[in-house]
Amino acid sequence: MSVAKKNNAILLTGAEVTRFAWPGGYPVFYVTHDSGVLCPKCVSENFDQCCDPDDHGWFVIGHDANWKNPHLYCDHCNSRIESAYAEEETSCPRSTTAKKW
Ligand SMILES: [Zn+2]
Repeated sequence: MSVAKKNNAILLTGAEVTRFAWPGGYPVFYVTHDSGVLCPKCVSENFDQCCDPDDHGWFVIGHDANWKNPHLYCDHCNSRIESAYAEEETSCPRSTTAKKW
């Protein structure tokens, strides 16, 4: 009934924050109410905030598998969120323009 309950359903698979989509093991990222991106680790470590509908910077409204965005970063810890299919292009993950051929 409440938004928080729905949010909990999004966040939880069993007792743990989903790190990889099931089935298939694809890397998962979370989307907050203000359109931010969070990695599963930050969601896990800030779980109460992610369940708080008044905390728009944290409140998680959805998640998805990162299929092929090699430059997807967590807005909180800036760690790169793995992609399912684009890993070969990311030998230099911080550089989005320079490619050495
Ligand atoms: Zn993070």
